[in-house]
Amino acid sequence: MSLDIRDIADMDRRSVLHPFTQLKDFATGKTGDPTIVTGGKGIRIQDAKGNQLIDAFAGLYCVNIGYGRDEVAEAISRQAYQLAYYHSYAAHTTEELARLSDRLVRMAPGKMSKVFYGMSGSDANETQAKLVWYYNNLRGKPGKKKIISRERGYHGCSVMSGSMTGMSFYHDHMDLPMGLIKHTGAPHHYWGAEPGETELQFSARRAQELEDLILREGPDTVGAFIGEPVLGTGGITPPPEGYWAAIQAVLRKHDVLLIADEVVTGFGRTGAMFGSIQYGMEPDLITVAKGLTSAYVPLSAAIVGEKVYQVMEEAADRIGSFSHGYTYSGHPIGAACANAVLDIVEREDLPGNARITGEYFQAELRKAFAQMPIVGEVRGVGLMGAVEFVADREKKTRFDAGLKVGARISAAARARGLIARAMPHGDILGFAPPLVVTREEVDQIVGLAAEAAREVMDELAGETAL
Ligand code: PMP
Repeated sequence: MSLDIRDIADMDRRSVLHPFTQLKDFATGKTGDPTIVTGGKGIRIQDAKGNQLIDAFAGLYCVNIGYGRDEVAEAISRQAYQLAYYHSYAAHTTEELARLSDRLVRMAPGKMSKVFYGMSGSDANETQAKLVWYYNNLRGKPGKKKIISRERGYHGCSVMSGSMTGMSFYHDHMDLPMGLIKHTGAPHHYWGAEPGETELQFSARRAQELEDLILREGPDTVGAFIGEPVLGTGGITPPPEGYWAAIQAVLRKHDVLLIADEVVTGFGRTGAMFGSIQYGMEPDLITVAKGLTSAYVPLSAAIVGEKVYQVMEEAADRIGSFSHGYTYSGHPIGAACANAVLDIVEREDLPGNARITGEYFQAELRKAFAQMPIVGEVRGVGLMGAVEFVADREKKTRFDAGLKVGARISAAARARGLIARAMPHGDILGFAPPLVVTREEVDQIVGLAAEAAREVMDELAGETAL
């Protein structure tokens, strides 16, 4: 490095507006120096002080193929030398873009037709909102504009995608959500179910609540429903039994499109290539990002189903061209990177590893945590998992938020060289390691996390004894 650590930290503190950071604590040094990340290999990253950290969250559940894969770096470099950029407006393309799009249409579940590209999950969901409006305008149903998402759903933080996100702290002080977005109950059995309510009964109740909302708003005003096959940022929560079947029956009845937000679940994380396949979803529109390039470069896509696309094409003689697109839509370096990443995903059968090593991971997580007195629930699927910490298991009561139990366990893990993420909505430790993780690495991850939890559990016992 040409600058020393102190210079980089000072320069950063003076000039970077960091996402999801308490600005004053950072500016005054209370939260310490930024971690300067210098390298990564496999499931590990390295910081400027030479510390190695196991990244059990794959960045932000995105580096699915692991860090430091030469063949992806080479594909990016090859494309940069050959043609770093050309746009895809007005029927221009590149070989990599055509190959990627053909591949995505074939890989994706259901009857998909076309792929539109962006740079982030947020902008792809912004595109999905416009596609819902466009489709309904073109087919003569201009009233069908509202989009329903779930409490605890995460869909991004741009204006529409941030509105879809069902977490108030993404809205507060930022004038969101926009009025066209409505929220319905979270598919979270542990916190949402009535005493004794089975998962099937709970799913039926959530579907009924959705139908009530559609009827209240008026079916002629509701265009789409958006959901992650498995809730991610809202707590890494697989859907309760029967959930998607019950929800889809309501959507079909009221002519409401389904947008599957596969930004986290796409390309193998749940143990299938897409979460929609695993849970029997038949989406009309699919959003992908993160795993598409394993975050080696930014790229996202809105995959458009046949039903929506046909209406768009049929209207074209009447209305002219499709007036939506970014300078970087279909960027050749993004496309080349995605092709190289998907070659690895397929060749190494990473969905298969997420299923097989994922089963082991889920079992070990339960073995290590389920009996701890401060653990309310251990949940997950494939290579995404979470441990929910509670003050009282029997009464299901949360810890006082001021105790910051989740954040402390995450920090204690970090001190042991493990990155596991403290998630919002309570005290939740989340895991989403790269999909190349091995059994031995799972043992290390679970072992270090359990040690961290025990350390904080002992501290809490001491604090309450005082
Ligand atoms: N959808 C889901 C399900 C996500 O988890 C995320 C990001 N965590 C997004 C959308 C937004 O993606 P981005 O941060 O790339 O805008």
